Amino acid sequence: MRLKEHVMNYVSTRGKAPAVSAAEAILQGLATDGGLYVPDQWPTLDFDLDQLAQLSYQELAVKVLSAFLPDFTLAEVQEVVDASYGSQWDTETIVPVHDDGNLHYLELFHGPTLAFKDIALQALPHLVTTAARKMGLNKEIAILTATSGDTGTAAMSGFADVAGTKIAVLYPQVGVSDIQRQQMVSEPGKNTYVYGLEGNFDDAQQAVKGLLGDEKFGAFLKEQDVQISSANSINIGRLIPQIVYYFYGYGQLLKKGQIKVGEPIDVLVPTGNFGNMLAAFYASQVGLPVHHFTVASNENHVLTELFETGVYNRNRDFKVTNAPAMDILVSSNLERLLYFASGQDSQLIAKDMQALQEKGVYQLSDKTRQGLAKFSAGWTSQKQVEETIAETYTKSAYLLDPHTAVAVHQYQDDGEHQTLLATTASPYKFPQTVLEALGEEVVAGAGGLTALAAITKTSIPQQVKTLFEQPIRHRDIIRADQIQSTIENALKH
Ligand SMILES: *Cc1c(COP(=O)(O)O)cnc(C)c1O
Repeated sequence: MRLKEHVMNYVSTRGKAPAVSAAEAILQGLATDGGLYVPDQWPTLDFDLDQLAQLSYQELAVKVLSAFLPDFTLAEVQEVVDASYGSQWDTETIVPVHDDGNLHYLELFHGPTLAFKDIALQALPHLVTTAARKMGLNKEIAILTATSGDTGTAAMSGFADVAGTKIAVLYPQVGVSDIQRQQMVSEPGKNTYVYGLEGNFDDAQQAVKGLLGDEKFGAFLKEQDVQISSANSINIGRLIPQIVYYFYGYGQLLKKGQIKVGEPIDVLVPTGNFGNMLAAFYASQVGLPVHHFTVASNENHVLTELFETGVYNRNRDFKVTNAPAMDILVSSNLERLLYFASGQDSQLIAKDMQALQEKGVYQLSDKTRQGLAKFSAGWTSQKQVEETIAETYTKSAYLLDPHTAVAVHQYQDDGEHQTLLATTASPYKFPQTVLEALGEEVVAGAGGLTALAAITKTSIPQQVKTLFEQPIRHRDIIRADQIQSTIENALKH
């Protein structure tokens, strides 16, 4: 008898849910034990680093996605990639790299909503609908998403008018930028539902996670014959497409002769829910040579403390900052990193996550801390964000958005390694903060866009040129205790 080759599956970080295929993991979002799906082994990529400089973004995406989605056929993966990385991007390379000495800005904001989340969220609807088809699922698929501002718009841009799907978005009333709010409330997709929530992002994310695990809500979905999933980075389908751009960035450095094949680089990421950084870690686990990872936070610096002291403590005030997409105290994807750092100790992870839920605090084991040796962290104040935007513009004539500035402030040139910095949003997504940083008069709404263009002699990206001329379609503001009934109303047939 021949042994059947073991195909990679996805298992829960908390160890109490059955292993599932990639398609099932993408459809479910969260594992049934409340944990997050992670690969049970690392796949082998079918390219060598020395080929990277020659591969197009789309070619590379097919290779990386195929490796992490072993149950998808090549034709299915190719279809997903074709639909996700086409003319909706404002540059053919999808992710251009801007160089400044040993620092390399990996520009992830050239998609339809001007933030890095487009990279995964242009793909997710196609991953979800393909997964459903593969599993013979004929139900309607509902996507439920909490957003700190960027995920909601990017998810709706991806899912708008996709047959057989509905998408509901919860955004916090405070903190989102004028552009982010206008993008959400003017979303034209007929299958989109948008609600402002009286609360912050953690409240919204907690509510979504709670609903996904709620029995009564489960019964409602069954009765309505609806399959629910998530567009938040708790969904492994969000993370896999993000692995691609770290390899692509490495390929660009090779192409320009800035590194040699195999040379380790540093990776610096402005971090909130830890999805972007986790994708870099996953890339390193399947062959990207990384010397060091730096986790940059804003004034909500729970992660800085964790990497420095080994203690995660969310018992503190939530700060609304000028880098709002990183305003978060419960950083979901850290759980996936700790799972690997602890040596796949799902019992330990389950215990720590329970402590986080109940007491808001847990402490890493020595073993886990050793597993994090390649990581360090730092945080940047709001004032430093503004100073960094001004300094970088004066010195290098490069305009930063506030999230990228959080990371730039943490950059240290060791003279030895090239650094790839995840440049997560266009400055045009946060014109008010950028104007303020440059010492210019702050103009609200559309005026902010024209003012920024005039002052910096750059052009308003075509993605937002007519944003404020779009009619407002979503006006509901709800309280946390109204979420379940509101969502049920939206999903009812
Ligand atoms: C979401 C977001 C982040 C944080 O990314 P995570 O993957 O949640 O860590 C950083 N910058 C911008 C602009 C974002 O939209």
